[in-house]
Amino acid sequence: MAGQLRIITGPMFAGKTSALLAIAEEARRAHRRVAVVKPLADDRYHAHALATHDGRTLGATPVRSAQELPAAVAGADLVIIDEVHFFGASLVEPVERLLAAGVDVAAAGLETDHRGEVFEPLGALMARATAVRRLTCPCAVCGLPATHTQRLAPGGGRIVVGGVGMYEARCPGCFRPGV
Ligand SMILES: [Zn+2]
Repeated sequence: MAGQLRIITGPMFAGKTSALLAIAEEARRAHRRVAVVKPLADDRYHAHALATHDGRTLGATPVRSAQELPAAVAGADLVIIDEVHFFGASLVEPVERLLAAGVDVAAAGLETDHRGEVFEPLGALMARATAVRRLTCPCAVCGLPATHTQRLAPGGGRIVVGGVGMYEARCPGCFRPGV
């Protein structure tokens, strides 16, 4: 039987990592073999843990690229991957292989980039997902549900690692693409 792919998306500060932590806790109570990975590029809080913006953590294996994923998760029956947008489109194939091998995958990441464009691999993974959960939080400007991540400092490419002060969540009406 093919594995199930669950996707959690939404802007920064919407609670995506907290949702992954809840999935991991539930799976551990069910005595599943859980592997948790995160991109090495994201070292904002802890290199070897998923960390929520409110300070909760879960041990994770940092991986440098999508090619390292199979070895990092060998033997698991549930693979949890945070911040998948750091991996780009190259993550799709290894995830498909895990699913084909009957391994469940739960992944979280940004659906759109600072210009409001689809941020791969999220588009491709969402198209393959059994379940997609879109989280929101209040827009930092007006309080309506936020769907976008606003970059506050100009310049930089698609990947600029940062947290509070560099980014904020905004609704479609307050989002200004490409800053
Ligand atoms: Zn707004």
